[in-house]
Amino acid sequence: MKYAIISDVHGNLEALEAVIADMRDQHVDKAVCLGDLVGYYPNPAECLRAIRSWSIQCIGGNHDRAVTGKIPLEDFNPAAREALYWTREHLGEDDLRWLASLPEELVVDGCFLMVHGAPGDPDAYLFLADEAELALQILAERYSGIRLCFYGHTHQRAVWSWPSCSLGDEIHLEQHGLYLINPGSVGQARDGIPGASYLTFDAEAGQINFRRLAYPYHVTQQKVRGAGLPLLLAERLAVGV
Ligand code: ZN
Repeated sequence: MKYAIISDVHGNLEALEAVIADMRDQHVDKAVCLGDLVGYYPNPAECLRAIRSWSIQCIGGNHDRAVTGKIPLEDFNPAAREALYWTREHLGEDDLRWLASLPEELVVDGCFLMVHGAPGDPDAYLFLADEAELALQILAERYSGIRLCFYGHTHQRAVWSWPSCSLGDEIHLEQHGLYLINPGSVGQARDGIPGASYLTFDAEAGQINFRRLAYPYHVTQQKVRGAGLPLLLAERLAVGV
Protein backbone atom coordinates (compact mmCIF):
# COMPACT_ATOMS: atom_id res chain seq x y z
CA MET A 1 0.00 0.00 0.00
CA LYS A 2 1.40 3.36 -1.01
CA TYR A 3 0.04 6.29 1.02
CA ALA A 4 0.21 10.02 0.42
CA ILE A 5 0.44 12.02 3.65
CA ILE A 6 -0.62 15.62 3.24
CA SER A 7 -1.19 18.36 5.81
CA ASP A 8 -2.10 22.04 6.31
CA VAL A 9 -3.82 22.69 2.98
CA HIS A 10 -5.40 25.93 4.32
CA GLY A 11 -7.72 26.60 1.40
CA ASN A 12 -4.87 26.95 -1.12
CA LEU A 13 -6.34 25.33 -4.23
CA GLU A 14 -3.36 25.88 -6.56
CA ALA A 15 -1.06 24.06 -4.12
CA LEU A 16 -3.56 21.25 -3.52
CA GLU A 17 -4.09 20.69 -7.26
CA ALA A 18 -0.31 20.38 -7.77
CA VAL A 19 -0.15 17.78 -4.98
CA ILE A 20 -3.12 15.80 -6.30
CA ALA A 21 -1.57 15.68 -9.81
CA ASP A 22 1.73 14.46 -8.31
CA MET A 23 -0.06 11.85 -6.16
CA ARG A 24 -1.51 10.47 -9.37
CA ASP A 25 1.95 10.34 -11.02
CA GLN A 26 3.32 8.59 -7.92
CA HIS A 27 0.60 5.89 -8.11
CA VAL A 28 -0.61 6.51 -4.60
CA ASP A 29 -3.28 4.03 -3.36
CA LYS A 30 -4.63 6.06 -0.47
CA ALA A 31 -4.26 9.66 0.73
CA VAL A 32 -4.71 11.07 4.24
CA CYS A 33 -4.67 14.65 5.53
CA LEU A 34 -3.42 15.71 8.99
CA GLY A 35 -5.77 18.68 9.40
CA ASP A 36 -6.01 22.43 8.75
CA LEU A 37 -7.88 21.94 5.51
CA VAL A 38 -9.10 25.55 5.61
CA GLY A 39 -8.06 28.95 6.99
CA TYR A 40 -5.68 31.56 5.42
CA TYR A 41 -6.34 31.11 1.66
CA PRO A 42 -9.37 31.91 -0.51
CA ASN A 43 -10.59 28.54 -1.82
CA PRO A 44 -11.81 26.59 1.23
CA ALA A 45 -14.95 25.21 -0.45
CA GLU A 46 -13.05 24.15 -3.58
CA CYS A 47 -10.36 22.44 -1.49
CA LEU A 48 -12.98 20.56 0.52
CA ARG A 49 -14.69 19.48 -2.70
CA ALA A 50 -11.38 18.11 -4.05
CA ILE A 51 -10.49 16.41 -0.75
CA ARG A 52 -13.91 14.82 -0.42
CA SER A 53 -14.11 13.73 -4.07
CA TRP A 54 -10.67 12.07 -3.77
CA SER A 55 -11.85 10.35 -0.56
CA ILE A 56 -8.85 11.71 1.32
CA GLN A 57 -9.17 10.55 4.92
CA CYS A 58 -8.90 13.56 7.24
CA ILE A 59 -8.55 14.63 10.84
CA GLY A 60 -9.35 18.17 11.98
CA GLY A 61 -6.74 20.82 12.80
CA ASN A 62 -7.03 23.91 15.01
CA HIS A 63 -8.20 26.09 12.08
CA ASP A 64 -10.88 23.53 11.17
CA ARG A 65 -12.06 23.45 14.78
CA ALA A 66 -12.04 27.25 15.02
CA VAL A 67 -14.07 27.76 11.86
CA THR A 68 -16.73 25.37 13.17
CA GLY A 69 -16.87 27.09 16.55
CA LYS A 70 -15.20 24.32 18.57
CA ILE A 71 -12.40 26.59 19.80
CA PRO A 72 -12.42 30.40 20.17
CA LEU A 73 -11.15 32.58 17.32
CA GLU A 74 -9.56 34.89 19.90
CA ASP A 75 -6.75 32.33 20.29
CA PHE A 76 -5.44 33.16 16.79
CA ASN A 77 -3.19 35.99 15.58
CA PRO A 78 -5.01 38.86 13.79
CA ALA A 79 -4.30 37.72 10.20
CA ALA A 80 -5.31 34.12 10.94
CA ARG A 81 -8.43 35.29 12.79
CA GLU A 82 -9.50 37.55 9.93
CA ALA A 83 -9.04 34.69 7.45
CA LEU A 84 -11.05 32.38 9.69
CA TYR A 85 -13.99 34.84 9.78
CA TRP A 86 -13.76 35.11 5.99
CA THR A 87 -13.61 31.31 5.63
CA ARG A 88 -16.66 30.82 7.86
CA GLU A 89 -18.62 33.18 5.59
CA HIS A 90 -17.55 31.28 2.48
CA LEU A 91 -18.40 27.73 3.52
CA GLY A 92 -21.84 26.15 3.26
CA GLU A 93 -23.66 24.35 6.08
CA ASP A 94 -22.76 20.93 4.70
CA ASP A 95 -19.02 21.70 4.56
CA LEU A 96 -19.08 23.15 8.10
CA ARG A 97 -20.90 20.08 9.41
CA TRP A 98 -18.44 17.78 7.66
CA LEU A 99 -15.45 19.73 9.09
CA ALA A 100 -16.98 19.57 12.55
CA SER A 101 -17.31 15.78 12.25
CA LEU A 102 -13.58 15.18 11.72
CA PRO A 103 -11.80 13.29 14.52
CA GLU A 104 -8.80 14.75 16.35
CA GLU A 105 -6.62 11.73 15.66
CA LEU A 106 -6.87 8.46 13.81
CA VAL A 107 -5.01 5.15 13.44
CA VAL A 108 -4.99 4.18 9.76
CA ASP A 109 -5.11 0.48 8.76
CA GLY A 110 -3.50 -0.48 12.09
CA CYS A 111 -0.32 0.88 10.52
CA PHE A 112 0.23 4.48 11.62
CA LEU A 113 -1.23 7.24 13.76
CA MET A 114 -2.24 10.61 12.34
CA VAL A 115 -2.41 13.69 14.60
CA HIS A 116 -2.42 17.42 13.94
CA GLY A 117 -0.09 18.65 16.69
CA ALA A 118 1.31 15.76 18.72
CA PRO A 119 0.12 12.34 20.00
CA GLY A 120 -2.53 13.03 22.65
CA ASP A 121 -2.43 16.83 22.15
CA PRO A 122 -3.80 18.28 18.87
CA ASP A 123 -2.62 21.81 19.74
CA ALA A 124 1.00 21.10 20.73
CA TYR A 125 3.76 22.32 18.41
CA LEU A 126 6.66 19.92 17.99
CA PHE A 127 9.65 22.14 17.29
CA LEU A 128 12.31 21.11 19.79
CA ALA A 129 14.16 17.87 20.47
CA ASP A 130 12.90 17.56 24.07
CA GLU A 131 9.29 18.09 22.94
CA ALA A 132 9.75 15.39 20.30
CA GLU A 133 11.38 13.04 22.81
CA LEU A 134 8.36 13.32 25.10
CA ALA A 135 6.01 12.80 22.15
CA LEU A 136 7.90 9.64 21.12
CA GLN A 137 7.54 8.37 24.69
CA ILE A 138 3.78 9.01 24.60
CA LEU A 139 3.53 7.26 21.24
CA ALA A 140 5.29 4.19 22.65
CA GLU A 141 3.24 4.09 25.87
CA ARG A 142 -0.30 4.96 24.75
CA TYR A 143 -0.60 3.54 21.24
CA SER A 144 0.25 -0.12 21.52
CA GLY A 145 1.70 -1.62 18.37
CA ILE A 146 1.93 1.74 16.57
CA ARG A 147 5.50 2.87 15.89
CA LEU A 148 4.89 5.53 13.29
CA CYS A 149 3.06 8.83 13.72
CA PHE A 150 2.54 11.57 11.15
CA TYR A 151 1.88 15.10 12.42
CA GLY A 152 1.44 18.61 10.97
CA HIS A 153 0.70 22.03 12.54
CA THR A 154 4.25 23.49 12.36
CA HIS A 155 4.23 23.57 8.52
CA GLN A 156 7.83 22.34 8.60
CA ARG A 157 9.20 19.03 7.42
CA ALA A 158 10.72 17.03 10.25
CA VAL A 159 11.73 13.53 11.26
CA TRP A 160 12.13 12.66 14.95
CA SER A 161 13.02 9.06 15.62
CA TRP A 162 14.50 6.43 17.85
CA PRO A 163 17.13 5.41 16.91
CA SER A 164 17.87 8.81 15.41
CA CYS A 165 18.12 9.30 11.67
CA SER A 166 18.89 12.31 9.50
CA LEU A 167 16.35 14.23 7.42
CA GLY A 168 16.79 13.56 3.72
CA ASP A 169 14.31 13.41 0.84
CA GLU A 170 14.26 9.63 1.23
CA ILE A 171 14.10 7.69 4.51
CA HIS A 172 14.05 3.98 5.12
CA LEU A 173 12.20 3.03 8.32
CA GLU A 174 13.79 0.49 10.65
CA GLN A 175 11.40 -2.27 11.66
CA HIS A 176 11.75 -1.63 15.40
CA GLY A 177 12.23 2.13 15.20
CA LEU A 178 9.83 4.78 16.53
CA TYR A 179 9.02 7.70 14.25
CA LEU A 180 7.33 11.09 14.33
CA ILE A 181 7.29 12.56 10.84
CA ASN A 182 5.96 15.87 9.50
CA PRO A 183 5.37 16.04 5.72
CA GLY A 184 5.45 19.86 5.69
CA SER A 185 2.56 21.99 4.50
CA VAL A 186 0.66 21.86 1.21
CA GLY A 187 -0.74 25.38 1.34
CA GLN A 188 1.69 27.50 3.39
CA ALA A 189 5.33 26.38 3.52
CA ARG A 190 7.24 27.63 6.56
CA ASP A 191 10.60 25.99 6.00
CA GLY A 192 12.07 28.79 3.91
CA ILE A 193 11.38 27.21 0.52
CA PRO A 194 8.22 28.19 -1.39
CA GLY A 195 6.17 25.33 -2.79
CA ALA A 196 3.82 22.56 -1.71
CA SER A 197 5.21 19.80 0.50
CA TYR A 198 3.88 16.32 1.17
CA LEU A 199 5.27 12.77 1.38
CA THR A 200 4.60 9.29 0.13
CA PHE A 201 4.87 6.25 2.40
CA ASP A 202 5.29 2.76 0.94
CA ALA A 203 4.16 0.59 3.86
CA GLU A 204 5.56 -2.72 2.54
CA ALA A 205 8.98 -1.29 1.72
CA GLY A 206 9.06 0.96 4.83
CA GLN A 207 10.04 3.82 2.55
CA ILE A 208 9.26 7.54 3.01
CA ASN A 209 9.76 9.99 0.15
CA PHE A 210 9.38 13.72 0.74
CA ARG A 211 8.01 15.65 -2.25
CA ARG A 212 8.22 19.41 -2.84
CA LEU A 213 6.35 20.88 -5.78
CA ALA A 214 6.42 24.26 -7.47
CA TYR A 215 2.94 25.65 -8.11
CA PRO A 216 1.63 28.98 -9.45
CA TYR A 217 1.44 30.77 -6.09
CA HIS A 218 1.15 34.14 -7.86
CA VAL A 219 -2.40 33.00 -8.78
CA THR A 220 -3.13 32.36 -5.08
CA GLN A 221 -1.59 35.75 -4.20
CA GLN A 222 -3.89 37.49 -6.69
CA LYS A 223 -6.89 35.72 -5.20
CA VAL A 224 -5.85 36.78 -1.67
CA ARG A 225 -5.77 40.42 -2.82
CA GLY A 226 -9.07 40.04 -4.68
CA ALA A 227 -10.77 38.54 -1.64
CA GLY A 228 -9.53 41.33 0.63
CA LEU A 229 -7.67 38.88 2.88
CA PRO A 230 -4.57 40.12 4.79
CA LEU A 231 -1.75 40.86 2.30
CA LEU A 232 0.77 39.25 4.65
CA LEU A 233 -0.80 35.89 3.73
CA ALA A 234 -0.01 36.50 0.05
CA GLU A 235 3.51 37.79 0.65
CA ARG A 236 4.66 34.81 2.71
CA LEU A 237 3.88 32.37 -0.10
CA ALA A 238 6.77 33.79 -2.15
CA VAL A 239 9.33 33.13 0.58
CA GLY A 240 7.99 30.07 2.33
CA VAL A 241 7.84 31.45 5.86
ZN1 ZN B 1 -1.80 24.88 9.81
